Amino acid sequence: MTDETTLTIRSIGARAVNVPLPKPLPTSSGAITTVPLVLVDLMSEEGVNGCAYLFCYTSAALQPVASLVRSLGEMLHGDVVAPAAIEHKLQRAFRLLGPQGLTGMAMAGVDMAAWDALARAAGMSLARLLGGEPRPIPAYASYFMNGIAGAEKDAEEALAAGFKAIKIKIGYPHLDTDIQAIREVRRVSGDEIVIMVDYNQCLSVPQAVHRARALDDEGVYWLEEPTVADDFAGHAKIARAARTPIQLGENWWGCHDMAKSIAAGASDLAMPDVMKIGGVTGWMRAASLAEASGMPVSSHIFQEISAQLLAVTPTCDWLEYIDLANPILQQPLTVQDGCAVAGDGPGTGLSWDEDAVKKYLAD
Ligand SMILES: [Mg+2]
Repeated sequence: MTDETTLTIRSIGARAVNVPLPKPLPTSSGAITTVPLVLVDLMSEEGVNGCAYLFCYTSAALQPVASLVRSLGEMLHGDVVAPAAIEHKLQRAFRLLGPQGLTGMAMAGVDMAAWDALARAAGMSLARLLGGEPRPIPAYASYFMNGIAGAEKDAEEALAAGFKAIKIKIGYPHLDTDIQAIREVRRVSGDEIVIMVDYNQCLSVPQAVHRARALDDEGVYWLEEPTVADDFAGHAKIARAARTPIQLGENWWGCHDMAKSIAAGASDLAMPDVMKIGGVTGWMRAASLAEASGMPVSSHIFQEISAQLLAVTPTCDWLEYIDLANPILQQPLTVQDGCAVAGDGPGTGLSWDEDAVKKYLAD
């Protein structure tokens, strides 16, 4: 804990890394071959620093996002580490350009690093700083589009690791293959296991209505992003036709998107992405909105900080577990008895393995 009552921003650094994957991760929108991350390091004048990472999806976005984060650091030099004030200043600065996309990502990186610095300065985990306490969060093992044989292997791996919930991606050319993949996971893991499926936006609305109805008797816990993410009216149509709950949220850019999605009745469940929703500041607003709307909240990637945030989310549902950043972290998030165990040390739980970071630097 520091004696300082306030922290002042000295600089914000950004490093681009491309973390290799043991094998490409197939989705219905193409394969992910590496994990392109921008590592954000906020340095304060008082010597308490904060960090965060941003997932860029494609390495083509690495350098632009890193460059934007550095520019924000210059704009914020000398400002107090006060996330709401920083958010106000940056939203104003980007009002005309638009606070979505790369600008939204860079702002969220600064926000998450600022909250990390505040929690470290207070000597508390983020969950405690936000008025809660770390607790085990039910986690599901998140897998990709690995075919029928892959679904069997994924289910075996998840069960061996103690998970009680498994998500697979579907959206094969034929509906029968979607059903076979789900049944394969069920066959291997039994009736007690929770199964979620993710279409990654690959269906038209009529196709989605057809497939959702066909999956209604498969006992699936949620059906994620069946059609284009920002087609809220289309999702509402699918949600009305299906008995399986529709899951949406990883592509909400800020709480305004979330509010529009809820108003349209686009989904039964919410899964904000801490980066796209606006960092910790955005997440807390999203959690309030979800609570007021009676929507269970799950997380999307960013599992370390999400474990802290779900601990203070009133309608906490599931944490998505997928080890995208583990190779560059000193202490990856652990899972015990199917629950993610959020750390209670100061901050969000992130610290870089600097040797690994050097190895995977993209610039
Ligand atoms: Mg998804």
